[in-house]
Amino acid sequence: MAEVITKLTKDSGIIYEFNKENVPTKKVASGTTLTIETYDCFEDQIQSEDTVIGRIDWNRINPATGPVFVENAKPGDILKVKIEKIDVKDQGVMAVVPELGVMGESIEKMEARIMQIKDDKVRFNGVEAPVNKMIGVIGVAPEGEGVNSGTPGAHGGNMDNTMVKEGATLYFPVSADGALFALGDLHAAMGDGEVSGTGVEIAGEVTVRLDVIKSDKLEQPMLENDEVFTQIATGQTFDEAANLATALMTRRIAEKSGRSLSEVTMLVSMNAQLEVCQVVNPLKTARFVVPKWLLKQLEIDLIKK
Ligand code: CA
Ligand code: ZN
Repeated sequence: MAEVITKLTKDSGIIYEFNKENVPTKKVASGTTLTIETYDCFEDQIQSEDTVIGRIDWNRINPATGPVFVENAKPGDILKVKIEKIDVKDQGVMAVVPELGVMGESIEKMEARIMQIKDDKVRFNGVEAPVNKMIGVIGVAPEGEGVNSGTPGAHGGNMDNTMVKEGATLYFPVSADGALFALGDLHAAMGDGEVSGTGVEIAGEVTVRLDVIKSDKLEQPMLENDEVFTQIATGQTFDEAANLATALMTRRIAEKSGRSLSEVTMLVSMNAQLEVCQVVNPLKTARFVVPKWLLKQLEIDLIKK
């Protein structure tokens, strides 16, 4: 029997803040596969280069479609999110904005460029760049106060992590009944760091499978794909995020394997990669990337299922 895929359209409800007080727009059982339609990060307000930047409603930035209530997800559980498919529209937009991003201090005025997507290429003024579809904003309701959807954190949110793509599986620490999952801010392409503050911002839809895991715990999101298992972490500074991602992963491997922290520190220093997700959002995000062959030799599962 074909799997039933539930659809969540963007006009069914969006959030600008991940918050456990948000009213869910959809209720699903654990194990549900869901197709979620998304606006771009400007809520589709920039459709041509003539759009008057001053007229954009800056309160409508980074909308995430949802939230989805996943039955039986309770605080302390883990929400597993398998990204089965990402489809993007055929037109995206990038912008530079004064004070935004690594080059922001040198940017004098906001400029937006519309980019066409065709044959798996982003076309930009004579350049054809490979499409590399990813999700910028994805997460669950945080513990405590709500968090703006432009800010990342332990709940996920605006992590702008290029590994959040088709085939990847994310794990989020659940802090609210039902987890309250939402996603948005797709990019047709983005480089690590997202140095201008935008990727190729684009509307589209994402198919995910949502499962509740009760047999393990998490402090910050993790991600795995066929080759690697990664710890994601967000901090006030990139240094803080990088240190946290490294420490959480190293301690987790030590705990799960029973090996000493010193020995595991050597093993990850030999074989793991400390990488940047983004350095342009209000908080910064890093990932610590461990090859699966190492976990296999250590005979451990980083998340007990
Ligand atoms: Ca983003
Ligand atoms: Zn974006």
